[in-house]
Order: sequence, then structure tokens, then C-alpha cells
Amino acid sequence: MALTSKKQKKPLKKASTSKKLTSGKKYVYYFGDGKAEGTAQMKDLLGGKGAGLAEMTNLGIPVPSGFTITTEACREYFSLGKKFPDRMWEEVLNNLKNVEKSMNSEFGNPENPLLISVRSGAKFSMPGMMDTVLNLGLNDETLKGLIKKTKNEKFAYDTYRRFITMFGSIVTNIDRKKFEDLLEEAKKAKDVQLDTELDAKDFKTLVKKYKELYKKETGTNFPSDPYEQLRMAIKAVFDSWYGDRAATYRRLHGIPDDLGTACNIVAMVFGNMGENSGTGVGFTRDPSTGEKKFFAEFLVNAQGEDVVSGIRTPLKIEELKRRMPKIYSQLEKICNKLEKHYKDMLDIEFTIQEGKLYMLQTRVGKRTAAAAIKIAVDMVNEKLIDKKIALLRIEPEQLNQLLHPTIDLKAEVKVIAKGLPASPGAAVGRVVFSAQDAEEWVEKGERVILVRNETSPEDIGGMAVAQGILTARGGMTSHAAVVGRGMGKCCVVGCGEITIREEEKCFTAGEITVKEGDYITLNGTTGEVILGQAPLVMPKLSKEFYTIMQWTDELSKLKVRANADTPKDARVARDFGASGIGLCRTEHMFFDPDRIRAFREMILSDNIDQRKKALDKIKPYQKKDFIGIFKEMKGLPVTIRLLDPPLHEFLPKTDEEIEILSNEMGVSIRRIKSKIKALEEFNPMLGHRGCRLGVTYPEIYEMQVRAIMEAACELAKKKIKVIPEIMIPLVAHVNELKLMKELTVKTSEDVMKQYRIKVEYKVGTMIELARAAITADQIATEAEFFSFGTNDLTQSVFGLSRDDAGKFLPFYIDNKIIEDDPFITIDTEGVGQIMEIGVKKGRKTNKNLKVGICGEHGGDPKSIEFCHKINLNYVSCSPYRVPIAKLAAAHANLKGKGAEVIKSTV
Ligand code: PEP
Ligand code: MG
Repeated sequence: MALTSKKQKKPLKKASTSKKLTSGKKYVYYFGDGKAEGTAQMKDLLGGKGAGLAEMTNLGIPVPSGFTITTEACREYFSLGKKFPDRMWEEVLNNLKNVEKSMNSEFGNPENPLLISVRSGAKFSMPGMMDTVLNLGLNDETLKGLIKKTKNEKFAYDTYRRFITMFGSIVTNIDRKKFEDLLEEAKKAKDVQLDTELDAKDFKTLVKKYKELYKKETGTNFPSDPYEQLRMAIKAVFDSWYGDRAATYRRLHGIPDDLGTACNIVAMVFGNMGENSGTGVGFTRDPSTGEKKFFAEFLVNAQGEDVVSGIRTPLKIEELKRRMPKIYSQLEKICNKLEKHYKDMLDIEFTIQEGKLYMLQTRVGKRTAAAAIKIAVDMVNEKLIDKKIALLRIEPEQLNQLLHPTIDLKAEVKVIAKGLPASPGAAVGRVVFSAQDAEEWVEKGERVILVRNETSPEDIGGMAVAQGILTARGGMTSHAAVVGRGMGKCCVVGCGEITIREEEKCFTAGEITVKEGDYITLNGTTGEVILGQAPLVMPKLSKEFYTIMQWTDELSKLKVRANADTPKDARVARDFGASGIGLCRTEHMFFDPDRIRAFREMILSDNIDQRKKALDKIKPYQKKDFIGIFKEMKGLPVTIRLLDPPLHEFLPKTDEEIEILSNEMGVSIRRIKSKIKALEEFNPMLGHRGCRLGVTYPEIYEMQVRAIMEAACELAKKKIKVIPEIMIPLVAHVNELKLMKELTVKTSEDVMKQYRIKVEYKVGTMIELARAAITADQIATEAEFFSFGTNDLTQSVFGLSRDDAGKFLPFYIDNKIIEDDPFITIDTEGVGQIMEIGVKKGRKTNKNLKVGICGEHGGDPKSIEFCHKINLNYVSCSPYRVPIAKLAAAHANLKGKGAEVIKSTV
């Protein structure tokens, strides 16, 4: 505690120095008086918070003294069946002595008490874990000392009742609302609005009531022994590591379960000692936009919990500049020093006690994707970091946020309220008022907006599934804002214009009442709340975004293509810097009403002549699409896959659809039904599909090749460069490919002769069956390129139906039977090995073989890393994932050269 008393009556015991451990582990690391045993590099052992406190101390930044119990101690605590490891407690006591000496006060001393804070702090910041317990060390006796020292009874009783609230709710899990209700009662009785308007007597009464509540809820008296309080708080910190909220957070953010948390014990400094005290949190740059500007909020006469809990709306930091200019400029200098030292954007927590500034925390600050990009590019320009570090600082998956839609500016919308724009983007959904409802509604296929007065860590599951989050209270650093930004979720907070009535499941904004299930739209960039479903458009990307994309090209080995079936998708892909199209699924072109009619006619044909006639009707459509796509790709390669799915997928399903088709085609219902019956298969995914269609109905593939080559030749005649790559699907045996290649080459040569022009084209195959990968050496003699269709490959190698696995795979993942969904992340041990065999064998007989991947895995960062490792030439993914894949490809390359990814955005 920084409340140093010069007039202490009882002499302090001489503090013993940290006991040197001659052997064994060291569980506790001290910091104080400008020197720390830890450093920033010791995050694994000290957690992010502990390492930050140590580093700030070493940098000569004012930090109250304290110590960190290591993550190792936490791990051992669990392995010992929730018992402190030998000597840990002894080390805690020794270090506490050092804090006492440094702060010139004594833990538990009724004359001159040292009060401490206890906080969790894992390697990665985790909002799901134990919050801070402040003011620990208070009891009826030490309270007297606090009153005497501060000559401020109101402050002392306020501090005591806060301590009981935090200890009761955080350490012993009493519902915090029960404490708050008592506080509300007290305010109501006195007819005041703010806690600060209560007096010493009110707080004294509250302390009494809180203790009664504690006894009622726990069956025991509130612990008066400060050491017992400390022991219980440390245990609660450790236990919170395996709490449900922390476990959920780790699962959502891919943080390993076995890291454990550190526990930080720091001398208290008080921001609630009057108008020249205060407390705040902030960032060295704007965490939403990345702008180089100190960004913070603070509250006068408050403790840290008041700022983050969102109960009182904090003031902008500019107000601090006005009220306490010296403190403001000291804070700004510290921020600059920290940024120069860490070479990153940081978040900070500070307290001002009676005009003196203390830093309580610093760590790498969480930021939106837009901010991550701007900060990375700016810091390269400021020569703080190089391009490689800049790229490694941005998480690929996080770019998703930027690729989210925003509200169409041209649309007329009805804005009903405005809050703080905490996390950008736009979200449309139906209103729900609890995290549980959010999860249930989403399960039923609804899109929801979670509306809460304020969120708490229990809400994390609901926040994760909601499209967006709206809170009535809280600032830009409230739980909802921080978590929303971390998740890349559109979020509007502190929207005081709405009144939420959770019990009645509605909120009002002026005259308007919005009920559960009503649609609203949030604009996370402006803070607007809009009634109904506003139309959304894709966002404009910043110049820094394109700089980052350019750097990914410079620093990657893998190229990134896109899976695109339409000219519109092709344009998106090119705009994002795709280096070609890796998969154009031609079957998607048949679903428009005119086309499906012709296609159905083709399927229902009884003989080859009829079939060819129908195919002639389809060809112009296909050709038109190919021309559009080729034009958009401006000379980049376009891989077009010939027809793949089983034919019955195109046939009508219901009686009504069959009747319409029968009328349209002048074919009897009976005939259509019998054809459908004839096409039925027990196992269609392994049935008459892929190149098997081409082998048995060569006229289908011939038409498609003709359409591709006619489109290419027509454009080539106009001097527009095109590189078609014709891809044969579901090949299992080299002879299938051989046949289809002959057909492709013959047809292509025919078309080129007809157009009297030569076009460069390639013929290749998908590798999506194990047999194809294992016999890749044979297949490669007929193929100029391979593209791994890892959707089918996973299905066939794993023996898992793509369409049915969803029913049981989540159970496998939840129960850790397998780590990742193999349809999202390549199962490297199984499917991956088969791929590796395919690449090696294929290149053995065809040195120039180009190899890519076009299954969904092509857009998944972990899978991309694997593709880099096995030396693929490119990955292909959905157009909107191209930027993510490009960054992941650069990461894979840099990691392959030993770089470590910096998780500044979790
Ligand atoms: C694949 O199987 O991975 C693939 C890209 O093809 P589709 O998903 O169309 O079967
Ligand atoms: Mg496939």
C-alpha cells in the first residue's frame, strides 16, 4: 500500500530478504523499488501481467511493490490435488515481508496495515478467469489503522465494503448481485444516485450487512485473518484456471489447457481517496482504428473495478489532461517509453493516489483487425519493427472482421439509439436478452443480437454465437467491448438511450419498444442501433490493408488462388490479390431456372442424340460464364472442373416440382419418376459421379471442354490473355484420366483449329481419393497439375460422410477424441500423410507437376501451414478468405524459417 505512514507507532519487524533457494524451484518473483526478479521474457512462468509488472519496474516506471506466484506453482497445485507445493507459502510470506519493507507498512498490522490486491494472470490474457480482489488484508482491526492513517472514515469503510464484495463474489462465488442489491437499497433509502454520495455511516452499515450476507451464503464468518484471506484468494486464482468461463475462452481462442495461471500480489494504491485520486485503463494507440493517439478512459475517485465493470461511465482521457495536466503528461511519457521498449501497442492500467501516478499493468494491447493492420504498417514506417514482424503481429483469422459487411450508406435506415462504437462492422439479427437464449436460438438456425445491460464473463458462449452485441452500460474498455473486439464481433456498448427490461424481454428507445425476436441492426463503426434489417455491403479496405497484402506476396512461398464460379466472385478474388482461380465448380452454373431446365432435359434424355441436343442448349450458357470469368481474371490461370456431382442432384425432388417439369418438357410424370428411380444410389458420394460421368457420358465433358475452349479462343482472338486449366474430378485410376485427357485434348485441338488460334491450356486432375494419391506416380504421367480435393479426400480417407459427420463430430471434439474437425483443419496424421505421398510420388514421375489444394482446408491457416510444409504450389479458397490465406501463407513461410507468431490479438 502506498499509504506510507511516517508516524507509525509500532515498529515494523525487520523484513527478511527473499530466501535464497539452494536447490529446487523458485515459485515467487519479487518486484519493487526499481528492481524486479522477472522480465518481460518470462511470460510463460509469470503470466502476461506478472512479466509486465516486472518489466515496468525494471524500466523505472512507478509500480507499487509486489510479487508473482508462478504458473508452475499453479500447475503443481493441481497435480498435488489442489495443495500448494512445498515451500510456496513460505516464499509468499518472505516476499510479503519485502513488500512490507518497501511500502513501510505491515500486513495485518492494526496500526499501519499493508493492503494488497490479488489477481490472476495467465500467459495469454483471459477475461474468463478470476478478476481482481482489491483491498485484501482488511478486518475490523486493520480498518481502524486505515482510518487513523487516512483520517478518512468514509474512504476506509467504502474500501472495506468493496473488499467484502469482491472477496465474497470472486473467492467464494456469492452472487455479486446480492451485494449490489444491498448497495442499491442503501442508495434508495438515502435517495441518492451515486455510491460516492453515501457517507461513512452508510458504508459502515453496509459492511455489517455484507458480513451477514457472507455468513448466510457460506455458513462461515467472513475471514478476519489476513493470511487466511490471502491463502483463500490464491487458491481461488488457481482454481479459476479450470473454471467454466476460462475453459470456454481457451477453447474459443485455441489456448492450451495445461499452461496454468500465475497469481500477482501487489501493494494497494488507492484511486478512491478523493478528487485528486482516480483510476483508469487505456491503450497507447487507438485499439479500434490503430490511430497513433493515446486512448484511455478514467474515473475520478474510483477503484479499478469501477472502470471496467461499466457501472459508472468513464471520462475520456482528455478530461484528465484538463484536470491533472502534470499526471497526464507523465502518463503520456510512460506510454511512449513503453511503446519504444516493447515495440508494440500496449494496454495499461493506472491509479492516481492523491496526485501521485502508479502503473498497475501493461501488456500487449488487444486490437481490432483494422487497428492491427494500421499499427503494423505504421510501426514499420516508424522503424520500430520490420515487415516480417509486422505480418506476424496480425492473426490471419482476424482479417475476417475486415471482410465483414457494413451498412449500405445509400439505404434509408431508422436509427433508434446511439451508443459507443466498440467493435466495427455491422450485424443484423433478432434480439435476445440472455447468453443462454442466444445459444439456443442460434442452435435453431437464427441470427441473433445479444442485448444486455452489461456483459460478464459468463456471457462468453452467447457472445461467441451472436452476430453482434449491444449493451446499455459500460465504456470502450468494458467487458463487452474488449471481448467483442477480440472476437471481431460487431459491438455497441454504453447505449444509455435504451432501457432494458430483461424480465419482460424488451427494451425501449424513446417511444419505440423492441421485443425479443424483433430484428435490429447494429453499426459497430458509428454506434448506431437501427430498427429492422438494414442492407449490408462489403467494406472499403484501407491502404494499409493493401500494403500488408503486398508484403504477404513478398514473404510467402505458397500462392493463393480462389474458388470462384461466377465473374462476380472472380472479381472479388482478383481484388483481394488472388493469383488465379483454383476451382471453378461448373455444376453451380446450372441452377438458374433456364439452365436447370435444359440440364434436366439432358439428364432425362433416352439416347445420345437427345442428350446432345439438350447439351447444345446448355453450352452457350457455360461459354458466357467462362468468358466472364476469364475476362475478370485478366490472364491469370483459371482451373475449371468438369461436372462432378451425381446427376440425380439436379432432378426435382417434390411431386409439385415433378409436375411442373412434366408440363414444361411434355414428358409424363411416370417417366420422370422412373428416371429418378433409375438414378437413385445407395451411396451417391461414392457412386456415379465425377469422372465416372465423363467416362460413361463423354458428350457431357465434351460439351464443357468445347465451351471452355471456345470462350478462350474468342478472347484470345481479341488479344485477351487466358490460361484455362481443365480439371477432371474424382479420378481413382490412371486410365480414367487417360481417357478423359484424350477427350479433352481432342476437343480442344478441334476448337482451336476451328478458331484458327492456339491457346495455352493445361489438363490436370483432382486428387480426392486415396487410390489416386497412392498411385500418384502413374496419374502424374497423364496430369499437368494436381489439386487436392480435401473435402472428398477427408471423407474417403477418414471414412467420414461429409454430410452426416456433423451429428457426432462435435461430441468427438468436445471430448477431445480428436483435436480438430478434419473437415476444417487437415488431419495431418492421416489425410495429410496421404497428401504427402501424393505430392512426392507425383513429382517423381512429373518434375514439373504443379500441386495445389481446393478443398475448404485451403482457407484454413493451420492447414495452409501444412500445405507449405509439404511444398504445394498454391492453396485455393473462397474469395473472401483470400486475404486470410495470403497472410497465413506468409506466416507459414516465416515460421518455417524459425519465426514465432506473436499473438497480440487474442
Ligand atoms: C473437394 O472434394 O475437396 C472439392 C473441392 O470438391 P467438392 O467439395 O466440390 O466435392
Ligand atoms: Mg470433391
